[in-house]
Order: sequence, then C-alpha cells, then structure tokens
Amino acid sequence: MEEMQLRATLKEYFGYDSFRPLQRKIIDAVFAGNDNLVIMPTGGGKSICYQLPALLLPEITLVISPLIALMKDQVDGLTANGVPAAFLNSSQHESEQQEIFNRIEKNELKLLYVAPESLQVIDRFLNDGKVSLIAIDEAHCISSWGHDFRPAYTQLGYLKNRFPTTPLIALTATADKATRKDICHQLNIPNALKHIASFDRKNLSLEVRQGIKRFEQIEDFIERRRKESGIIYCLSRKNTEEVAARLSARGYKAEAYHAGLGHMERIKIQEDFINDRSQIICATIAFGMGIDKSNIRWVIHYNMPKNLEGYYQEIGRAGRDGLASDTLLFHSYADVVQLQKFAANSKNEEVQLAKLERMKQYSEAFTCRRKILLNYFGEFKEDDCGNCDICRNPPMFFDGTLIAQKALSCIYRLKGQEPITLVIDVLRGSQNEAVLEKNYQQVKTYGAGKEISWRDWQQYIIQLINIGYIEIAFHKHNQLQLTPLAKTVLFEGAPVRLAKIPTEKEIKIQEETV
Ligand code: ADP
Ligand code: ZN
Repeated sequence: MEEMQLRATLKEYFGYDSFRPLQRKIIDAVFAGNDNLVIMPTGGGKSICYQLPALLLPEITLVISPLIALMKDQVDGLTANGVPAAFLNSSQHESEQQEIFNRIEKNELKLLYVAPESLQVIDRFLNDGKVSLIAIDEAHCISSWGHDFRPAYTQLGYLKNRFPTTPLIALTATADKATRKDICHQLNIPNALKHIASFDRKNLSLEVRQGIKRFEQIEDFIERRRKESGIIYCLSRKNTEEVAARLSARGYKAEAYHAGLGHMERIKIQEDFINDRSQIICATIAFGMGIDKSNIRWVIHYNMPKNLEGYYQEIGRAGRDGLASDTLLFHSYADVVQLQKFAANSKNEEVQLAKLERMKQYSEAFTCRRKILLNYFGEFKEDDCGNCDICRNPPMFFDGTLIAQKALSCIYRLKGQEPITLVIDVLRGSQNEAVLEKNYQQVKTYGAGKEISWRDWQQYIIQLINIGYIEIAFHKHNQLQLTPLAKTVLFEGAPVRLAKIPTEKEIKIQEETV
C-alpha cells in the first residue's frame, strides 16, 4: 500500500498526521497477508492497526470484541468519522440484523463488530472471499492462562479453518509469555508475526504503601492534586460507595462506579468524568475498559489487584497524554487473604494463585518496581527507572536483629493469641485497658520496645511478616503467630536485616519534591 494513501486515509478518517512507530509496521504486515499478534499497552493505539486497513481492503473486516456494552460506542465513534461500521450481537432484533446483512450484501460496510456468541449468525452470509480481515480484540480472553478468560472465546479457533486465506490479527494489552503462546495456539495461527510494543510507561510514577489509615493517606494525596482527575480502584462495591461518600463530604466531586448501577447511570458518571464535571471516580474494575480520557493524572489502588496484568492495565489509564502522572497502590494482608479466597474458588486456581503471589512480591519488593513489572511482561531493563518509590528513596538496611528478637519473643510470650495492636501495646509498655485486663504487664517483654514509636513498630512487624517470621491468622481474629523460621532468630541468634523507616517528615519532603 502506498505511503501517501495510508497517510491520507489516516488524516481523513482519524485526524492524525502520522503513525506511531509500531502501527505502520503492523499495517504493512496486514496488507502483506500475514497473521499477526499485537501486544500493546492500553492507550498504545491498537485500534488503528485494523481500522485503517479495513478502510482500504476490498471486502469487510470482522472485529470480534467481548464487550457488547462498548461495541455501540465504538461503532458510533467510527460512524461519526465517516467509517461505514455496524455491530451485531444478541441484544438486537431480527429485523435489525437483517438490515445489517443487507448492507453486507451490498458491500456497504467496512467494519462489522461481532460478539463471539453471535458468530454463527453471520456464518451463512459470509464466504471466504467476502472477509478481508479478521481482528480479535482483547485476544487474551481466549486463554485460561490470561486474567480474563471468556469461555465464548474458545470457539474462535474455528475462524482460521473457516476463512483459511483471510489474515487474522489478534490484539491485547496484557499477555505474559504463556498467554501469548496459548493465543496463537488456540487461534490456529502458529506463524503469526508478533509485534510487541514496549510496556514501559515512563511518565507513570509507581508507589506502594502499607494499607494503614488508607483514607487519611488518600485525602493527603488528593489534597495536593485538587484540580486533577483520578481514579480510585476498590475491590468491593461497598468500598467504592464509602470512599466516594467520604470524599464528597470533604467537598470533592467524587462518584462511585460499579456493575450494580443502572446502564444510564453508569453512562452519566462516565461522561461527567470524561468532561471534567467530576474529579474522582471510585470504581471497581468494571470501570475503565474503553474509557478514552487522556488527562487522568493519578490512579490509586485502595485494594490490591489480583494480578500484575490487571494492575498494569488499571494504572495505564493514567497519563495517556504522556504527561507525568502518579500511581499509588495500598498493600494490605487482609486484601491478600480475600484474593486468595477468590482465587481458590476459581476454575484455574493454580494459575490465579501464582499470579497473586507475583502481585504480592511486587508490592513487597525492595528493588526498582518498574524493573519487576517490565520483567513480568518479558522486557528486561539494565537501569533502575528513577520514577518509583524504591528508586527515589532506596531503602536503607540496618541490623534489626534486636528489634526482631523483641517482637518475636513478645509474640511467643503472648502465645500467638493476640493481634498486632496488642502486641505493639505490650512491646511499648502501654497501660491501656486491654493490656491491664489480661495482666500483660506481667509478661517478660512488657515495655521492652518503649523507645520505638507505635507507627514504626507497625512497619517493622509488617517487614517481619514479609520476610516470613510472622504469620497473621486471619480466621482467628488476626492473631500474630510465629512461623517455624522464627526459631532461627529466637533460639539460634540468626541476624535480621530490616529496612529503615522514613520519618513522617521525610515522607512529606519527598512528596513535595516530586
Ligand atoms: P488501545 O486500543 O491500544 O488502548 P486506542 O486505539 O484506543 O488504544 O488509542 C489510544 C489513543 O491514542 C486514542 O486516543 C487514539 O485516538 C490515539 N491514537 C492512536 N493512534 C494515534 C496516532 N497515530 N496519532 C495520534 N493519536 C493516536
Ligand atoms: Zn524504579
């Protein structure tokens, strides 16, 4: 295809002056008749890779998309730009479908969006020569190795058999190596060219904090970003509503968004956000797919996501315009346990649990977080990124053996029957009711850690949990208990390295200089 013609079409229908680096290469491969697998982060510009060829190819392009709710928006957007497009799904009447078939017959349509469930319906209307290109959006849905497996997608393997000479292009924002292989295997495109864009989004800062007093931390975070749009992702509908209500009470324009709301209500919330009539969306992961808002300046994860793919996709909604944007993830053990339960009840338990473990390791890391993330997506970087909390403020380690011994022996003497709050109260020699009631002032370690603040104790104990000396018994009122490994510290004098905890003042200074 001529360069001139490609550019003119890009300008005429999409309004852009030039292609992004990978887009051009992919489009050439499509015209050359190859099968293609495209891995590009959200916002990378995947759509053009099949929409533009669709305009220039002689017959129709089929687009398989899992999200019926988004099909209409996409088709409306294309139609508004003068692209002859339509969608077909089970929500339509027969007469509506007939109308579409008539347009296919007359060769009036360039793009047809189809839900995977509705493929059979169109089968009889299409013969091999009638389809110029098949695009499979959100292609990871075909793989149970992916994070969003959809059973209806498994039928798509048949497309290549049915249309053997039609090039196929599979696109996704999220696929680790195992998933990539599986996509090609299941779609019967073993010789597909793979186009993998860099996942590095340098403009997104990465930060992880302990999920302690989350709301206060969020308030402080937003206080510095009064005019900037952002999303707060929560695990439950209830959480989204609570956080939104508390922020609204403080004068922020915040809305809750989740799958339990009515269709119209959801549309309104999205539009208010896109048009800057509201500032903050507190949402479950139902929010964001297909949202095209370029100036989202920050994303907070109130709860831990269930895997790094989801996390990366969600933070990726910030800073699509390329300007600096901030992301903050709260790490909490209660969340990990909740997610473990979800994973344990899922179909592919083993995969889900392994993915969760990687998520946890990321949150607890003491090395450049971006390296860990990119590594997960198969990209290896030599240098630290300089734009994550670890790079900006590398942890300083010190000999924490004594601190560890005090904490572990206190837990030992409380017989593993008390939660973190009481353990710290005993360590600090607190006189509060709970301590006195149980006569804990008699315990040998009572007051042994007076010189360390409450907040610091909390952080040290979390580190000891992360290293593996302490466990939280979630089903037993969050009692802290020793693991077998703790013995090495208590009885064999094994040394313990702890990371220094920045003072609140140091944290403030860091924030202000960002
Ligand atoms: P993805 O599907 O990969 O998430 P989209 O196809 O929705 O990404 O594109 C993301 C954004 O980038 C959209 O706002 C789109 O209009 C814009 N975009 C895509 N290609 C180009 C280009 N060549 N020049 C400028 N903007 C582009
Ligand atoms: Zn870094």
